[in-house]
Amino acid sequence: MKQSLTRQIVTAMIAGISIGLIMQYLNVWFPENAASSFYGEWLAGGLFSAGGQIFVNSLKLLVVPLVFVSLVCGTTSLGANRRMGMIALKTVGLYIVTTCIAISLALFLSSQVSFGLVGELPGAESFSAREAPPLIDVFVGMFPTNPVQAMADGNMLQIIIFSILFGVAVSQAGDNGQRISGFFNDLNEIIMKMVGILMALAPYGVFCLLAKLFFTLDISALQELALYFVVLAGILILHGTVVYGTLVSVFAKLNPIVFFKKMWPAQTMAFATASSNATMPVTMEVVEEKIGVRNSVASFTIPLGATINMDGTAIMQGVATVFIAQIYGIDIGLAGYLTVILTATLASIGTAGVPGVGLITLTMVLTQAGLPVEGVAIILGVDRLLDMIRTGVNITGDAAVSAVVAKSENELDMEIFNSDR
Ligand code: ASP
Repeated sequence: MKQSLTRQIVTAMIAGISIGLIMQYLNVWFPENAASSFYGEWLAGGLFSAGGQIFVNSLKLLVVPLVFVSLVCGTTSLGANRRMGMIALKTVGLYIVTTCIAISLALFLSSQVSFGLVGELPGAESFSAREAPPLIDVFVGMFPTNPVQAMADGNMLQIIIFSILFGVAVSQAGDNGQRISGFFNDLNEIIMKMVGILMALAPYGVFCLLAKLFFTLDISALQELALYFVVLAGILILHGTVVYGTLVSVFAKLNPIVFFKKMWPAQTMAFATASSNATMPVTMEVVEEKIGVRNSVASFTIPLGATINMDGTAIMQGVATVFIAQIYGIDIGLAGYLTVILTATLASIGTAGVPGVGLITLTMVLTQAGLPVEGVAIILGVDRLLDMIRTGVNITGDAAVSAVVAKSENELDMEIFNSDR
């Protein structure tokens, strides 16, 4: 049953892309007729748009309750001991290391390519830079003054801090804590059931999202920036398969093929939504129920990863920097590259995993490297499709690190991993 759901989602993905592209071609060939307004307005703009949006909203709806409840359960089961500190340390350490590998790989490989010229360079007025918040502010901002506000805003890092504090207190509160812990465990089961219900609807959601998206996709921009697209997509796939494959096989002793197969539903969802945040309920379900990472680890690593670990985004920023530097004929030198590595790694911390955020933080990276921010306008046209691919890489990175940390802490259930789930 579960296996066939994966197949259904993948079929829906292929069907959505095909239908979207067919509608787009029909629209180009026969622009003004009754049929084009039917599929343009009613199907793409109406049914598919609404269906996709409802699906994404329903996924997002689960994020805050899921993170809160699941992390309270996870923290309670570990208690306030040294193990929790170790898990946090290993997770953050691995997230930073994998991001550094990602961006270095991107800079090294893309600088071997000669991208050539594109048409006209955009004017300075077309894009404004974003200021990098001081690191100290990011750190202080993680601590909420009002947990209800943090949840209303969906501020992931603040919710994580509050949930951990709450869970630690529950584990120390004796009989009272025991009762509350039981309640949270029951609640966790119910929320995971809600995720399961949504997963059953995923093929329809994925179909609607992709059909609408590929109907409106700008194919001509893709042709113009073909080399940039191919190089970036190639490095994303290389990192997503070779680096994570090595990570899970060497450090978690897991069969990478099985790992990737099990990740399919979450990756497809990431591709369709272009949002690590919206995909998080599915990533969590896959990591716990298929890969076998216990809740004590997954409840911490996955929400944290969706917020601070964005290897795919870092790769895009590396390739985009090299590309834009070449277009403007600026040599940023070794110091420039090191600045890019540092800024791109920091830029991903504290920014939520939502569509297009990588492009906004790219302006920070460009400013730090001394490149014109309006260069972002050049790659805008192809970014949506690349965003979908890099979000898939982002969440695969979260899952790989989660598996490695779980294995090292003896919190990986090999029976689940080896099962057909
Ligand atoms: N869409 C990406 C994510 O949610 C972030 C980005 O690169 O724009 O993970």
